[in-house]
Amino acid sequence: MSELVALSLGSNVGDRVGNLRRAIEELASFLRIEKVSAFYVSRAILYEAQDDFINVVVLGRTDLEPLEFLDRTQTVERDLWRIYRFRYGPREIDIDIVFFGDRLIDSERLTIPHIGAASRDFVLEPLAEIAADLIHPSLDRTVGQLLLDIPGSDRTVIQRYDG
Ligand code: AMP
Repeated sequence: MSELVALSLGSNVGDRVGNLRRAIEELASFLRIEKVSAFYVSRAILYEAQDDFINVVVLGRTDLEPLEFLDRTQTVERDLWRIYRFRYGPREIDIDIVFFGDRLIDSERLTIPHIGAASRDFVLEPLAEIAADLIHPSLDRTVGQLLLDIPGSDRTVIQRYDG
């Protein structure tokens, strides 16, 4: 049975939009893409002394199991020459699995829903643009509601990126 998957992609090194576009093309080989959000620009969190990120959210269907799916998204990250610098540091591409149907997974390699999915505006804002009614399976709140729940103090500077 195919599952509806939401992915959050980010890049803050090199040709950021080009990196995201290429990643989406590669994802299309194992994900039937239904919707892609606009591009957004956001300030880096956790380690702030780095360039702004461009973010995009992709919604699609897959028949793969979650760990097989993670293997494939990590291959896309490697194909884009992602270099590991340090935790929370700059990256050519980052692909996070936000939702995988209504599955709840807490294993060594995979936490789904993604921990940041419920609290980060650079995930929720693009996701709300294309799927505001999607329900977070453990919090039982829609993406649109979760976005409104973010306290002002936790908001980052995020805006649509048309450049
Ligand atoms: P990062 O450096 O942020 O890309 O984190 C990569 C690590 O997060 C990988 O080792 C993954 O196994 C792990 N991980 C856990 N949950 C997820 C998820 N929902 N989506 C993507 N990676 C995940």
